[in-house]
Amino acid sequence: MARSMIEWTGFVWNIMLGCSKCSPGCKFCYAVNEVARERCEAHKGLAVLKPIANWNGNLRFRPESLSQPLHRKSPTKWFVNSLSDYFHEHMPLEWQKAGLEVMRMADWHIFQVLTKRDQQLNRLLGNELNEFASLPECDVGSQRRGLQARAPQNRCSPRIGCAHQVAEH
Ligand code: SF4
Repeated sequence: MARSMIEWTGFVWNIMLGCSKCSPGCKFCYAVNEVARERCEAHKGLAVLKPIANWNGNLRFRPESLSQPLHRKSPTKWFVNSLSDYFHEHMPLEWQKAGLEVMRMADWHIFQVLTKRDQQLNRLLGNELNEFASLPECDVGSQRRGLQARAPQNRCSPRIGCAHQVAEH
């Protein structure tokens, strides 16, 4: 758990690591530069540094981090997966469900889940993750690039923006 320097959030909650570039907006991905330097054990084996920093396709789950929001009692905004994309097409469903379950339990927080994979987000919320999408007042549209999940109303409202770009982080 790390306090974030980003003004629109409070803490970073990294329960998944690793990604792959999927759009022109990924060109200036700060996350891959951070991870490729392998400054901590958890970052090893997810990216290469040369000839240019790039993901190698590996994804990593960090179950040891799952319960962090449950231990913080004061209401907090959490930036989820600052070094990955929650809705990456190869992200195992069990990992996604585990994180969403914690978001549902920690109903005094706001979770900011940004993605560049709008279509995957909408597909999953319309199918395998439907139990989370069908919560009252949940509203995730196709043009939106992420969601903010807040309970107890279980409201999901869109956060428009692109995750992981140098310009925005
Ligand atoms: S972390 Fe974000 S910006 Fe970087 S490659 Fe993945 S989706 Fe693109």
